[in-house]
Amino acid sequence: MAILDYEGFWKDALVQLQNDLREEEFSGWFSDMKYLRAGNNSIVIGVPSAFHRDKVISRYQSLVNSILKKVSGQDISLEMELISVDSIETEKKESFTTKSASQNEASTAAQPQETYKTKKKKEKHSQMRDDYTFERYVIGENNKFAANAAIAISENPGKAYNPFLIYGGVGLGKTHLMQAIGNYIHENSDNEVIYITSENFLNEYLEGLSQKTMNVLKNKYRYTDVLLIDDIQFFTDKPGVQEELFHTFNALLDAKKQLVFTCDRPITELKKFPERLISRFGLGLMVDLQPPRYEERCAILKSTAESKNVLIPAEVIDLLSNNISSNIRDLIAALNTLIAYTQLMGKPITLEIAQQRLKTIFNSPKQANLTMDNIIRVVSEYYGLTPNDLKGKKRSQNIVSARHLAMFIGREMTDYSTTEIGQDFGGRDHTTVMYSIDKIKDKLLTDPALEATIDSLKRSIKEFSAK
Ligand code: ADP
Ligand code: MG
Repeated sequence: MAILDYEGFWKDALVQLQNDLREEEFSGWFSDMKYLRAGNNSIVIGVPSAFHRDKVISRYQSLVNSILKKVSGQDISLEMELISVDSIETEKKESFTTKSASQNEASTAAQPQETYKTKKKKEKHSQMRDDYTFERYVIGENNKFAANAAIAISENPGKAYNPFLIYGGVGLGKTHLMQAIGNYIHENSDNEVIYITSENFLNEYLEGLSQKTMNVLKNKYRYTDVLLIDDIQFFTDKPGVQEELFHTFNALLDAKKQLVFTCDRPITELKKFPERLISRFGLGLMVDLQPPRYEERCAILKSTAESKNVLIPAEVIDLLSNNISSNIRDLIAALNTLIAYTQLMGKPITLEIAQQRLKTIFNSPKQANLTMDNIIRVVSEYYGLTPNDLKGKKRSQNIVSARHLAMFIGREMTDYSTTEIGQDFGGRDHTTVMYSIDKIKDKLLTDPALEATIDSLKRSIKEFSAK
């Protein structure tokens, strides 16, 4: 009887599985397996946990057995044994460079990262986090434009896009991307890179004023090669430091030195920001970071777990990605909470533990996807109007009362401030929002049916948002 190559069968079966399954399914369940040995008409595979084994048995056993039959021409079945996580991790590390492109979905777009494998080691930059690099930055649909521009700038500082502004909401990766530019340039060239938060820039400016050492500040910032200033919305309504920024800006631009800024909103929405400063930004490139979609959330969790050498079952990745959609910072914080808890308790990360430990986070209004847009959609639909009717300027009675109601519900169901709500209603002032909310409060006193309408609208909004 010919000797059968069981390990070869297993490799063939994996190739077939990779074809048959969705990428995340395959990488979630099969990339953590390890061929151990041939059994009695079976192939023995190591898996990291009993949970993993049970899920593979219930979901994939018959598929795997039929594939094994196809590739080997024999009745060979799959057997699983538990092995320690470490042995899988070492394996994964060794094959990481060749496998990385297939390890997560978003990395199809993330391929440019490959060129960023470090060549020589230089001293780390003292002002930036060394893990805020392109290698650690998962690129997907939500951020690929921004990331590609950032990469172009890193390769050609001062020449590609200047100034470069990254804007977007809290926790969406502005600082990470900005520092990735800084770290890359620092590591791969002799250019001097300065990173500073706007708050510290202001402090140094105030110190310069009071100590009469302003020339120190000027020399430091006007003669660097790359200047990264984080969170410039902080300069709102601070004319002195804005003036200093303006001169620094001009000096560096004239010298063709790279400027990178981040801001929590589009620059044109900064109130009390001088026009001449705003128009300087128009000379360069402004890109926004959008919240990540489900696929990107999964990819970020996998990549974060990998960097910490922790194995997270696919079901847990799915659970977190489904329930935390606010921003990347919250997503990673939830993962860290889970890792810390399980390590402390000496337990593996399981779906049950994740559900239990993260319950309150999942149920918070922030994660319920209760956006003003969803609220506006449901309310306008209920009254046979369009979202633009509510956001626009029309003042007919039915539109005005639907608008008031949507603002009222927005304030009740979300954590948005009246300023933020006003912005979502075509840039209305917060006092207008407050006035509208008061109107509804008054009506509630005299119109008992209104309360029922509001309750029913709230239910529809929750349902709509959960989709
Ligand atoms: P922001 O400055 O926009 O508030 P940060 O840059 O501080 O956001 O990002 C918040 C967290 O999310 C950080 O831990 C960061 O490393 C992580 N993060 C953001 N975007 C990504 C991404 N695309 N890939 C991996 N991690 C990311
Ligand atoms: Mg930041």
